[in-house]
Amino acid sequence: MSVEIIETVRAMQARSEEWRAAGETVALVPTMGAFHEAHLGLMREGRRRADRLVVSLFVNPTQFGPGEDYEAYPRNLEADLKATEDIGVDVLYHPSAEEMYPEGYASYVEVEGLTDTLCGPSRPGHFRGVATVVAKLFTAVKPHVAIFGEKDFQQLAVIRRVVADLHLEIEIVGMPIVREADGLAMSSRNLYLSAEERRTALGLSGSLVIARQMILDGERDVQTIEEKLRSHIEAAGPCTIDYVAVADQETMALKETIDGPLLIALAVRVGPARLIDNTVIEPPASS
Ligand code: AMP
Repeated sequence: MSVEIIETVRAMQARSEEWRAAGETVALVPTMGAFHEAHLGLMREGRRRADRLVVSLFVNPTQFGPGEDYEAYPRNLEADLKATEDIGVDVLYHPSAEEMYPEGYASYVEVEGLTDTLCGPSRPGHFRGVATVVAKLFTAVKPHVAIFGEKDFQQLAVIRRVVADLHLEIEIVGMPIVREADGLAMSSRNLYLSAEERRTALGLSGSLVIARQMILDGERDVQTIEEKLRSHIEAAGPCTIDYVAVADQETMALKETIDGPLLIALAVRVGPARLIDNTVIEPPASS
């Protein structure tokens, strides 16, 4: 079945209105393309959850900082289109940057607090760009439900906040991280990695497995855990650690003690790629 490609906001709104008028529900999976298995998983979930499925493909310039990889970001429309056909996507929403941010564009969505830690400080303006583009995608696609991955755990928290604060009537679904067989979290940016860098990148997921086990074994000192994360990552090969952190799953505030549901998150530069990974942990209450 061929997928309809829509490139303008007005045409997307009209298509969605048509579906809604017919009593159909709409799911949205926002992406930046260069699809891998994790993207396809989100799409299948969207397919299950609604009558109509829209996948947006937009490499959003406002979420990339100066010197980041906006220009170099992998773009592969033909293969992506084929993948959406195989899944049975109804519409691939593929606006241009000019359509999304025309001359004179001046409005942004800013989320406070949640963006003060983790990727917030190391990518100034990133979450402002994410919150803005997601709000705009919601306005264009008018979904009942939108599906995101927990690989971008802080992004998911930001989007949930936007939906709650702006009273948007959209259910937000988070899906678990999808990994390669060796543990590396799938990412379009993995395409940047040489074979050697790919081996180094395994330090990220490997360190999370170790940290999780330390906590389950009773370790309660955040500094000890962070030191172990750092030493494991650095031992895997040449890289630059952006941050490793233990944070509250809801507020993203950094934790000083290991208690309650927590998030271990990290960002590491390996060669040309800035990679992120995380794991959520429920420490046993007794220890
Ligand atoms: P991206 O195209 O990288 O912006 O990602 C689009 C969506 O796919 C986001 O909701 C991401 O969180 C999600 N995603 C990307 N990689 C993974 C992964 N390895 N596991 C789960 N979700 C992912």
